[in-house]
Amino acid sequence: MEFSIALLKGDGIGPEIVDSAVAVLEKTAAKFGHKFSFTPYLIGGCAIDETGIPLPPETIEGCLASDSVLLGAVGGPKWDDQPGNNRPEKALLGIRSALGLFTNLRPAKLYPALRSASPLKDEIIGSGFDIMIVRELTGGIYFGDRGYREGKYGQEAYDTEAYSITEIERIGRVAFETAMKRSKRVCSIDKANVLESSRLWRRTMHSLSEEYPEVEYSDMFVDNAAMQLVRDPGQFDVIVTSNMFGDILSDEASQITGSIGMLASASLGDTARGMYEPIHGSAPDIAGQNKANPIATILSGAMMLRYSFGLSAEADAIESAVDRVLDAGYRTADILGSTDTAPLTCTEMTEKIIEVL
Ligand code: NAD
Repeated sequence: MEFSIALLKGDGIGPEIVDSAVAVLEKTAAKFGHKFSFTPYLIGGCAIDETGIPLPPETIEGCLASDSVLLGAVGGPKWDDQPGNNRPEKALLGIRSALGLFTNLRPAKLYPALRSASPLKDEIIGSGFDIMIVRELTGGIYFGDRGYREGKYGQEAYDTEAYSITEIERIGRVAFETAMKRSKRVCSIDKANVLESSRLWRRTMHSLSEEYPEVEYSDMFVDNAAMQLVRDPGQFDVIVTSNMFGDILSDEASQITGSIGMLASASLGDTARGMYEPIHGSAPDIAGQNKANPIATILSGAMMLRYSFGLSAEADAIESAVDRVLDAGYRTADILGSTDTAPLTCTEMTEKIIEVL
């Protein structure tokens, strides 16, 4: 099969890690008889340097014309004094909205070889965890009505959480479909004991769950979920939640894996085209030193194969190559344990994964 991929390398370690993912995708294409073409576009600080703005129209057009998008990271101290609406990070909201991406999928998986990197105690980790957080990305309080007004104590600021049945069903369906491909459990997280929008969220999720009798469905209040994630993370498979709760819980879930350089993410919309990126930033402190861990971006590439191109066996092959390289004891500096020997560079880690593929 043939697919076109827009590359948004961005800033800092972005170019290094995207080049690594491209090398792994090219090897995968060769192994399975596919053809991937890659076209780079500017985004973030490098786009400001060249064009004056972080998200040039050619980048949006290029992404819309591609089958999918792979992003590195944007931002860095060089652009910190840019005005708010021209900061590199502003481009991320712009490109997500231009591509109509309303779902964010964030796996939080504990790699057995990296158990010691988790801040959780061994008895809490138990046999490990592999959670998929499905976060609504374009609704809720981050996009609701906001402003200033006169309140009981003088001027006050307000933001509004609002969700329609259509938005809840749309994200719910993604969660149930995702669970059908995993261990068939969905936990919907809300604050239905307090918020009206959460009560509608819960009612809608309940009705939707009837369409998926094979999926074991449960609800949880967000405050309890925040506790349960550090008390017994193994109980979760797919978590589905609103924009703000997902923002907070997905960061908590990534921290308990202990390895920011390992975690991938996917943003999806109504079409097969998605945007895939590591959850970490541009790591300016190690940029250009060949020290970055490329695995989060390589795994983002695997998610692209699975979710945008329907190439599950190919995605499995990449994920299993990463597992085997870690099991064999290879590490980049960020995941080096106290007993490990010298770390691999970004390019050496990429070569190891390609070798095993
Ligand atoms: P960061 O994720 O870039 O870095 C945090 C720490 O983790 C640093 O010590 C860094 O060296 C390390 N780290 C991150 N990724 C790594 C990797 N792949 N391998 C090894 N070590 C890694 O977060 P930050 O320092 O808060 O932000 C730096 C810049 O990135 C800022 O400009 C911020 O706005 C931007 N940012 C961008 C995105 C994005 O593009 N999606 C996300 C978060 C932050």
